[in-house]
Amino acid sequence: MPFYEYHCPGCGQPFTLLRPMAERDQPAECPQCGQVTDTRELSTFATSGSGTGGSAPSFGGGCSSGFS
Ligand SMILES: [Zn+2]
Repeated sequence: MPFYEYHCPGCGQPFTLLRPMAERDQPAECPQCGQVTDTRELSTFATSGSGTGGSAPSFGGGCSSGFS
């Protein structure tokens, strides 16, 4: 089951719920104040934001052979 993010209109806090995809647009109850919202944030799923590209391009061949 995916996580869905909601934004509580009552306390203003974002919260996430783990729920079936079929219920993603159902009203969600804030765990903090109990306010029900049906505003779902656009996010989810894509929580893999770690780039493992370690090879930084190395500039630095500044050999200026004197052309004149
Ligand atoms: Zn709330």
